[in-house]
Amino acid sequence: MRIVVTGGAGFIGSNLVRQLIRSQHVVLNLDKLTYAGNLESLSDVSEHPNYHFSRSDITNGDAVKKVIEEFQPDWVMHLAAESHVDRSIEGPRVFLETNVIGTLNLLQASLAYWKSLSGTKRANFRFLHVSTDEVYGSLGSDGLFTEQTPYDPHSPYSASKASSDHLARAWYHTYGLPTMVTNCSNNYGPYQFPEKLIPLMILRALRGESLPVYGDGSNVRDWLYVVDHCDALAQAIEHGKPGETYNIGGNNEMKNLDLVKHLCAILDQLRPKVDGKSYQEQIAFVTDRPGHDFRYAIDASKIRNDLGWVPKQNASTGFTATVEWYLNNGNWCENILTGKYNLGRQGVAESNK
Ligand code: NAD
Repeated sequence: MRIVVTGGAGFIGSNLVRQLIRSQHVVLNLDKLTYAGNLESLSDVSEHPNYHFSRSDITNGDAVKKVIEEFQPDWVMHLAAESHVDRSIEGPRVFLETNVIGTLNLLQASLAYWKSLSGTKRANFRFLHVSTDEVYGSLGSDGLFTEQTPYDPHSPYSASKASSDHLARAWYHTYGLPTMVTNCSNNYGPYQFPEKLIPLMILRALRGESLPVYGDGSNVRDWLYVVDHCDALAQAIEHGKPGETYNIGGNNEMKNLDLVKHLCAILDQLRPKVDGKSYQEQIAFVTDRPGHDFRYAIDASKIRNDLGWVPKQNASTGFTATVEWYLNNGNWCENILTGKYNLGRQGVAESNK
């Protein structure tokens, strides 16, 4: 298949592009390369003949239209977004511009392109909108988010993602564009930007810095290994039904404090401190994030029953593999932390400006 992946230089996008290339698909990565986009995350596939890249901004409707018209995709997998909750609290505008207007531009460009198609190419076209479980708000101690849970976003990030989910569904109902939406729990794994919880904790631990945990660390998240998420996205676009929503989750709930302790225990084993102390001693509690949702947990039975998807990694294998990856890829992390990864993008002109 010919697939446009937006946000392919980000954390989930780069893992997805790698998987799609290995599955013999032809991929065009459409990415603006914001601070979160890093072409070094794709260095092992960037020379592959099936890999194409366009440095484009999804807030530029003409640019998006041109890329889609020229590449003639069978499928569009839309991941590009501003994705960090703390940044959305500091500066919400870009979240609305990218996540809402950017999604509108992609839907409009896809609709015009889809209408121009005929036969099997038109029948097989799919648009997958990749979203988050944060649109559902917060759970108490019990219950799970299902596809029927009403939307109740609490942060500027989740509100912008909720808005874009509604747009993707509206384009199906109003115009017949074959869209699907996936809502996934927190991801972890290789190539995650070091501002996010898991890489942040691993890298700070190794540097001997404090490990900041919001509030009392009792907030619960349902963690999914990123490669499992990418498998689910591949299943959804190939076998999912237009107009449907699929929740994706790891069935792997953990309190934030327990997660940080777990990471410390893995590090204690793999990279013991010279003084023999545990990394856990570096944990420090900090003032909670405003509007911090208490608990997220996903009921993934629909995608399991309808599409046969189940995660392959469990908490033990997935977190150990992740810590090992960060230990073995110090250069990738270092280039981000020193800003050196920015140099790589300076030679990459923005297409279709
Ligand atoms: P990320 O922040 O790591 O990557 C986002 C990518 O989008 C970057 O490469 C960035 O350069 C690109 N981008 C941003 N603005 C753009 C624009 N205007 N035009 C073109 N490209 C732009 O994000 P991620 O964690 O990989 O998340 C990918 C998607 O999955 C997002 O839509 C996010 O909402 C969703 N999601 C993430 C998680 C998670 O735990 N990370 C969980 C569920 C859903």
